[in-house]
Amino acid sequence: MSRVYNFSAGPAMLPEEVLKICAEEMTDYHGSGQSVMEMSHRSKVYDEIIKTAEADFRALVGVPDNYKVLFLQGGASTQFAMIPMNLMKNRVADFIITGQWAKKAHAEASKFGKANKIASSEDKTFSYIPDLDDLPVSPDADYVYICQNNTIYGTRYTSLPDTKGKLLISDVSSMFLSEPHDVEKYGILYGGVQKNVGPAGVTIVVIREDLISEDVLPGTPTMLMYKTHADSDSLYNTPPCYNIYVCGLVFKWLLNMGGLEVIKKKNEAKAKILYDYLDSSALFRGTVEKKDRSLMNVPFVTDSKELNDLFVKEAEEAGFVNLKGHRSVGGMRASIYNAMPEEGVEKLVAFMKEFEEKHV
Ligand SMILES: *Cc1c(COP(=O)(O)O)cnc(C)c1O
Repeated sequence: MSRVYNFSAGPAMLPEEVLKICAEEMTDYHGSGQSVMEMSHRSKVYDEIIKTAEADFRALVGVPDNYKVLFLQGGASTQFAMIPMNLMKNRVADFIITGQWAKKAHAEASKFGKANKIASSEDKTFSYIPDLDDLPVSPDADYVYICQNNTIYGTRYTSLPDTKGKLLISDVSSMFLSEPHDVEKYGILYGGVQKNVGPAGVTIVVIREDLISEDVLPGTPTMLMYKTHADSDSLYNTPPCYNIYVCGLVFKWLLNMGGLEVIKKKNEAKAKILYDYLDSSALFRGTVEKKDRSLMNVPFVTDSKELNDLFVKEAEEAGFVNLKGHRSVGGMRASIYNAMPEEGVEKLVAFMKEFEEKHV
């Protein structure tokens, strides 16, 4: 069977070139006589894999020397607790609520202190990014938290909020490595890799070094202290060895392509094909304010639930899978991450046009 076009929000498509390398190296990694899955994380050969992955990530993103790059477990969701446990020294943090993931991070932080909602787009089902110009940032806030690309609703920040001097913390899970990241603007930039980078099981945290300390909330478990992982170069305990290796291959794939400026241009071109069609269609339409549209997650609907369901079903049969919208919003969503080829989006649009001709 040939491969399908997988529009899943995550776990999502990986570059076919990377999967082929994984297959070639599966039973014997570089003459070691072992699969990367079987190796000791303390072995010389694995040390080289994780060090190279980190070095390539740093080169790709341009991570400044005063930031650490950590490969952690527990998904992006564990960061919802780890961030307040490590950074909420005054027990106050401000949140901009732009969707489910920001809401969950806010709810988790509320367990540790005062979590303020300083802006929200919940009034219009998160279909836009709130005005960021003059936010009521709390004078005693330890940080301001955002979710920079909203996987479920399909919005993204096109500029960063003015945090009035407070640390900015950002969840970039569903836009990680889709465009350049200006690391110096953040205290922490993090994401689960299963959306745009690699196989589920790794969370990459980029954290400014001065934020890493033993001065954490009382009772913080060892495993949830950034210091634990920073001090041991992400090898405090057994890391998700194989998944980090695959992430490393994806970093090389992106470096060989020319880096994040290049992938950004590709992503813009891909998204434009789909958005231009949605804007011209008599059947389908996008659900998000144009200026805030995500390059990665594209929600769309028809005005009929029956047609939405029929479309998802027929698309699946034609090899375009996982187009059903998130259960909380319905309709359709096409996630077009880095690994989705332009051809996949072109073919999807051609399929949508055919569907439109039949049903309008
Ligand atoms: C998927 C997602 C999460 C949750 O990730 P897990 O790794 O499953 O915990 C958090 N934030 C965003 C933006 C996501 O897209």
